[in-house]
Amino acid sequence: MRIKVLGCSGGVGPGLRTTSLLVDDELLIDAGTGVCDLSLAQMSRISDVLLTHSHLDHVCGLAFMADNLFDLIDRPLRIHATAETLQAVRDHVFNWIIWPDFTQLPSPEHPLISFHELKPRETVELRRLKFTGFEVLHTVPAVGYVIDSGSGVFVFTGDTYADERLWSFLNSLPRLDRLMIEVAFPDEDSELARVSRHFTPELLGRELKKLAHRPKLFLTHHKPGAERAIEQECLTSLAGWDYSHLKRGDIILS
Ligand SMILES: [Zn+2]
Ligand SMILES: [Zn+2]
Repeated sequence: MRIKVLGCSGGVGPGLRTTSLLVDDELLIDAGTGVCDLSLAQMSRISDVLLTHSHLDHVCGLAFMADNLFDLIDRPLRIHATAETLQAVRDHVFNWIIWPDFTQLPSPEHPLISFHELKPRETVELRRLKFTGFEVLHTVPAVGYVIDSGSGVFVFTGDTYADERLWSFLNSLPRLDRLMIEVAFPDEDSELARVSRHFTPELLGRELKKLAHRPKLFLTHHKPGAERAIEQECLTSLAGWDYSHLKRGDIILS
């Protein structure tokens, strides 16, 4: 499995894009502004999108991508997410006010997008990869994903905060090779991180002690402008861990 990081920033700015991962050129995990760098040919190859949660930085690219696909695809782009996330995207994005309802266009019989409920802890197989969602703690209903390629197990937590369920679920996995986890704020913003349900380096370092596996860590979702402070604080808080700070364009093989 080849994962290309289209975006992994906690915000936008020159060279920064929000969360979207391109898996084997055919699947997306989240559809933030990173999607907007794909060519029409690349967009039309994508068959399925899995969403972690409904926040704008993870779904806004869907709106523009769907609009681009008229005349380019002869089957709907399948959007997979929990019932709560699908409802939020229906009610607040594809509602004919913010954007057209592309589940009805160009016709209800041949729509551009279709919604598919994915229940946490259930495994779906897409393009020979096994995806299992698991609940995480954020300000809205949110999940992370385990992707088992047969040769490696990769986990993306999405946006999350300290939560016993996260560690007990990850510890229940027989194998965990690579863990992409967020650390959005520097330690000085720990109160903001607590109310917005994001990690700081200090909290992540403390929480990771509960993890029974020793995966390679890929750190993501740093707030623009806070990257240097977060990197500096991780030197201490994540000492002993094999980790890297993800950047747009990075490739993860699993
Ligand atoms: Zn979020
Ligand atoms: Zn986010």
